[in-house]
Amino acid sequence: MEKIYDIVIIGSGPAGLAAASYAGRARMDTLIIEKAQEGGQIVITAEIENYPGGIDHESGPSLIGRMSKQAEHFGAQKVHDTIVEVELDGDVKHLKGLNGDYYGKTVIIATGAFPKPIGCKGEQEHIGKGVSYCATCDAAFFEDFDIYVVGGGDSAVEEALYLAKFGRKVTIIHRRDALRAAKSIQEKAFANPKIDFMWDSVVEEIKGEGLVTSMVVKNVKTGELREIEANEEDGTFGIFVFIGFVPNGALFEGKVAMENGYIVTDENMKTNIPGVFAAGDVRVKSLRQVVTAAADGAIAATQAERYIEGL
Ligand code: NAP
Repeated sequence: MEKIYDIVIIGSGPAGLAAASYAGRARMDTLIIEKAQEGGQIVITAEIENYPGGIDHESGPSLIGRMSKQAEHFGAQKVHDTIVEVELDGDVKHLKGLNGDYYGKTVIIATGAFPKPIGCKGEQEHIGKGVSYCATCDAAFFEDFDIYVVGGGDSAVEEALYLAKFGRKVTIIHRRDALRAAKSIQEKAFANPKIDFMWDSVVEEIKGEGLVTSMVVKNVKTGELREIEANEEDGTFGIFVFIGFVPNGALFEGKVAMENGYIVTDENMKTNIPGVFAAGDVRVKSLRQVVTAAADGAIAATQAERYIEGL
């Protein structure tokens, strides 16, 4: 029989890393499994403005770097693998990965969420050729080019502010005539001379052989279709999409109680399966922020420890 960890955490965003720090600090034998880059959604955030104590314009990667070091400091082990199947019933949970099998007395699911695509014609084909879901990653490619940002929430407006440092002009395309973003963020965008708005509009199609050269935008009130062409000298422009997230929960369908793709927990992060907890953006909750993800992780780890003590 392979090693049985006390706590196996799937996902290394703020929820997973906070859980790992708390678990490690409680001397729990802890493993974090991450399939891709450490940090989850937050590593594509240029600046975190509202994490408590964060007054120094810290970036997502920087905050995650510190959380990761802290988890290691408390003894959490890390492995890169993609979990493809889970057996969560019973006293020992079994996670099957592409590279190996992992066993834990408890599991904390902290798999987060991924950016929601527009779903329009031409979007998939132009990812990396003008279409992006990450300003921090791709802003520099559009230095002095026109940039369009799709969405009206905190992410769209905050990232538009960041992109305005690079682009010639940033146009926010929003499907309504009022932003959803927090008022303080809206104010900054309205005051920024490089940011424009295209209200009541949705992107219908993205075009271009290779790079993006034009897109079709529809006014949802009038039904009018308008083709936006790239500036002749530039030949292309950037389309950054920030219209929300989709939970990374497919693996757990039929294994734990779920609602609209999100995992249902109680306030102690317990799912309906004993010894299985969920934390962060993947669970049903009202506020998805770094601070709430980290809090979920801390609660889940503490509850997992109590569960193990009771075994
Ligand atoms: P969000 O709050 O869900 O906003 C999504 C935006 O995209 C909304 O404006 C929505 O329009 C629009 N939208 C949704 N589906 C669309 C579609 N199919 N086509 C066109 N537009 C569409 O998502 P988010 O901005 O990514 O934020 C997610 C969570 O993270 C939120 O809780 C947010 O507060 C938090 N967050 C916080 C910060 C911060 O505080 N610094 C930064 C980033 C994110 P409608 O307005 O019409 O619904």
